[in-house]
Amino acid sequence: MAKHIFVMGGVLSSLGKGIASSSIGVLMKEMGYNVIMQKFDPYINVDPGTMSPFQHGEVFVTDDGAETDLDLGHYERFIGTPLSRNSNATTGQIYEKVIWKERHGDYLGKTVQVIPHITNEIKSRIRSMSDNKDDIVITEIGGTVGDIESLPFLEAVRQFRLTEGPQNCVFVFLTYVPYIKAAEELKTKPTQHAATKLREIGIQPDFLLCRSEQPFKNDIKEKIALFTNVPKEHVINAVDVKVLYEVPRVYMQEGLHKMICKQLHIPVKQIDLSAWDEVIDNIKNPDKEVNIAVCGKYVEHRDAYKSVEAALIHGAAAFKAKLNIHWVDSEKINTAAKIKETLSNADGILVPGGFGIRGINGKINITRYARENNIPFFGICLGMQVAVIEFAKHICGLDDAYSTEFDENCEHPVITLLDDQQDIEFMGGTMRLGAWPCDIKPKTLAHKIYKENHISERHRHRYEFNNDYKETFIRNGMTLSGSSMKEIFCEIVELPSHPFFIGVQFHPEFKSRPMTPHPIFKAFVEASIKKHYK
Ligand code: GLN
Repeated sequence: MAKHIFVMGGVLSSLGKGIASSSIGVLMKEMGYNVIMQKFDPYINVDPGTMSPFQHGEVFVTDDGAETDLDLGHYERFIGTPLSRNSNATTGQIYEKVIWKERHGDYLGKTVQVIPHITNEIKSRIRSMSDNKDDIVITEIGGTVGDIESLPFLEAVRQFRLTEGPQNCVFVFLTYVPYIKAAEELKTKPTQHAATKLREIGIQPDFLLCRSEQPFKNDIKEKIALFTNVPKEHVINAVDVKVLYEVPRVYMQEGLHKMICKQLHIPVKQIDLSAWDEVIDNIKNPDKEVNIAVCGKYVEHRDAYKSVEAALIHGAAAFKAKLNIHWVDSEKINTAAKIKETLSNADGILVPGGFGIRGINGKINITRYARENNIPFFGICLGMQVAVIEFAKHICGLDDAYSTEFDENCEHPVITLLDDQQDIEFMGGTMRLGAWPCDIKPKTLAHKIYKENHISERHRHRYEFNNDYKETFIRNGMTLSGSSMKEIFCEIVELPSHPFFIGVQFHPEFKSRPMTPHPIFKAFVEASIKKHYK
């Protein structure tokens, strides 16, 4: 059977369990193990697809079209392997399955209960990740110990370890050691209490990853070890780092990978983090800079643009450029004067994806500003749709051009539901989700960027470019450079008369990696750097 690592959290939320799990993943992967990652989310929603980005942050989309937790974005960026819908389960999904089985009589008249039926379902999800003994399955359990809703998951992994044994199952617990200014001291009590809480439900952690702003010494480790019943060497100081991608090195320096291997009875192998070090060095020691304005309506909740931010960081790192992201609330800047004032030092303008009408006029006017002032522009999903609407209004002379998402009765629905394509399964209001192929026209900006004729990118949207207006757009100077399904779907638009203007119906940010930035992000950052030093 595969070896399992479970990552749980205590003290408070937002300690970065996703990054911690991913960083362990990097170390195991760099040792040559096949790493599979999975997250359990204790909320009742079946998936985060219906949740507001203000509440939940970004919805990460996998190739197979699952709408998942944003931590899966960290996993993919760190371990570099595309994940599937199996990698994210919520309480809602688990209950849905159990209730479905109950309705089908699978439980043969028994009373269906949290233990054993819910916990069995959770354990079967864990087991189904892999049965290959060479695999390492890392499972992150969302929430914080002490929460009522994560209890069934913790109970399930407690049982799992009981049957599989500690040599197949490692418990990692992420906690926090705060520095109290007034006392000039690091405090271990919250960690002690959190570990006690975990032991109350029968889980003794094997390793503690203790986040702290300041590095701590042996005395603190000894104290934590004594109170938590964890060997001192297994108390890892996960000290704050400037760049996310430094975390694997911090764990490695503490010897975490060796101790995990020892417990799992698997050989320790050489780790080479030099490629990571190079990216980190490029981020920390830039020799130029670039200002990118990201203009959306969720900017006050930056988790909503997690992958966009990460992809920009990757793109800038490739050029050793210091990346200054200006988060611009498209709802607040609407007038031409305000846009000019706010965006005067933007070297590049990115309009990301989004849903609903709020802030849309700001986005249209911002896009117009980028087009008219030759500022590199990159529109993603809704951002592309906005670019199409703006071009229709101000260049094609279609004053009432709009998306039917915002006005069903607009005169020129340049973005619309393609409901005449009834044979295509997702139509009629459901989303186009996951990986779709795209054919790229030669001699276009898109082709110059991808250097390929056929690509695959991930989608998450309902509305589409309206082909009834295709000729009008082409005649007025817009190039439709990418399409799929024999040109049913227009996937990429660009303006050859502009230094860099591209809009894509898909979400390229999901496929960017620190060592291999997404080509469009890279090209966009490059064009923006060029603008900066012009
Ligand atoms: N709201 C738009 C649509 O549904 C765009 C979605 C997005 O940007 N992800 O088509």
